Amino acid sequence: MISEKMVGLVKNSSVIRAMFEEGKRLAGIYGAENVYDFSLGNPSVEPPKEIREALLQVINEEAPNLVHGYMNNSGYEDVREKIATSINHNFGTDFHCDNIIMTVGAAGGLNVILKTLLNPGDEVVVFAPFFGEYRNYIGNFDGQIVIINPNTVDFQPNLKEFEQKLTAKTKAVIINTPNNPTGVVYSEQTIRELAAVLDRKEKEFDSSIYLIADEPYRELAYDGVEVPYLTKFYHNTIVGYSFSKSLSLPGERIGYLVIPKEVDDYEDVVAGANVANRILGYVNAPSLIQRAVAKCLEAKVEVEIYNRNRELLYNSLVSYGYECVKPQGAFYLFVKTLEVDDKAFCEAAKKYNLLIVPGSAFGCPGYCRIAYCVDYAMIERSLPKFKLLAKEYLA
Ligand code: PLP
Repeated sequence: MISEKMVGLVKNSSVIRAMFEEGKRLAGIYGAENVYDFSLGNPSVEPPKEIREALLQVINEEAPNLVHGYMNNSGYEDVREKIATSINHNFGTDFHCDNIIMTVGAAGGLNVILKTLLNPGDEVVVFAPFFGEYRNYIGNFDGQIVIINPNTVDFQPNLKEFEQKLTAKTKAVIINTPNNPTGVVYSEQTIRELAAVLDRKEKEFDSSIYLIADEPYRELAYDGVEVPYLTKFYHNTIVGYSFSKSLSLPGERIGYLVIPKEVDDYEDVVAGANVANRILGYVNAPSLIQRAVAKCLEAKVEVEIYNRNRELLYNSLVSYGYECVKPQGAFYLFVKTLEVDDKAFCEAAKKYNLLIVPGSAFGCPGYCRIAYCVDYAMIERSLPKFKLLAKEYLA
């Protein structure tokens, strides 16, 4: 018999993954070209050519024990130093290898930092809509998730409610910009106000509230929009980065945490994160891909391909009568469902072999997420189906 906690987790297992499986089943019946699977955030753009070259170079030119051996739990020192230098160059920060911990993707980084910070019952604040896995990651360490209701006008965080919901038990706040599922980039103004709230509350409670910036989509931003680097705005910021989307490497499981020396109890946090990386069973981030990404820090996928998808899908859906805040980043549209029950709406979409995810999976019912990290041709083929679906409701 598996644990009671696990029974619940299996029962509520990811809606998104279930959709993905459903897509495969429908493709078996109708043919892959007649199924429009917008469910999963799996990058459709190829990794940049630099990554392949770097992998070959590492394998062919570096000593095997350097490429395949155990290492410090925080990762290779030279790789971490290169990453620190690259961040400093891009954002005017002052990091060194001691501020960087290589992780098993953003998911690994979030689990490492939450394990490091949380006592059972500590509160972690998230802004709806949010990546549904946060609930599980917080639950892994018996933290308490506190959800701030969505601001559906522009999907910038609701800071009034945020201020009211911070308590003496608040240990961390997770923000994700560019955002999954809305694609919204939090403005510098928003970040400044959010930082001011945190400063005030830390003083009021005489506590440390860590801001965890979950940034797997940092490089996917459109129309020249700036994605503020958060360590500059609030002293207790820890950044979780990932190469899953920036280099289209989600299966390689590689990312890093940035822990600036300004964070409270810096040395303890770094020491804790090292041990957490080890005892969560990651031990260290995968070695070969660490060495490869270090050679490609200025490379990124062709963002224009996603941008083209975004323009086509957004403009088409809006012309059919759907409502959506135009995303400035990531590769998702968060669209208001044409009936109140978002799950029923996504079921109705299935009649047309359109696979989209209910907003309730992200803590925001009444919406659905459409992942446009897919082939442009599939989007073109799907448009008449979205039009028919809209007609059911808007005729
Ligand atoms: N955070 C957000 C907001 C995500 O959307 C994802 C993946 O889709 C992750 C974290 C996990 O990323 P990774 O594959 O780097 O673990």
